[in-house]
Amino acid sequence: MTERTSRCCCGQLSVTVSGEPTINGICSCSDCKKRTGSAFGWQTHFADSGVIVVGESQQYTLDNGQVRNFCHRCGSTLFWSSPSFPEMTRLAAGNFDSDELPLPKLSVQDHDRVSWIELPEDWVFHT
Ligand SMILES: [Zn+2]
Ligand SMILES: [Zn+2]
Repeated sequence: MTERTSRCCCGQLSVTVSGEPTINGICSCSDCKKRTGSAFGWQTHFADSGVIVVGESQQYTLDNGQVRNFCHRCGSTLFWSSPSFPEMTRLAAGNFDSDELPLPKLSVQDHDRVSWIELPEDWVFHT
């Protein structure tokens, strides 16, 4: 089974996942923009049973129940959980090292996508 590892900027926190993501897409909601400080968040979902966390994280809980885990030293957000996706770990896809993920083909909160990002027509779009 394929294994991939995601690491924070300083390297003390890592998450290894096995298998393929059940969801792999970008999100343009304001929470994802603030989490990344970028135009959108790219995230993957993996079953909790295939997720191994090494290192120390701190947690932040949003009003919607999402629990974000970030490195206590460098601040990178690596993974989170939310009540709407039980038994799934959601990971910030940009933190995976050289282990290439499948291409994302999903854009959620697409109506909030910044105007200068164009996406291929064969993606799935959720407003
Ligand atoms: Zn770190
Ligand atoms: Zn979002």
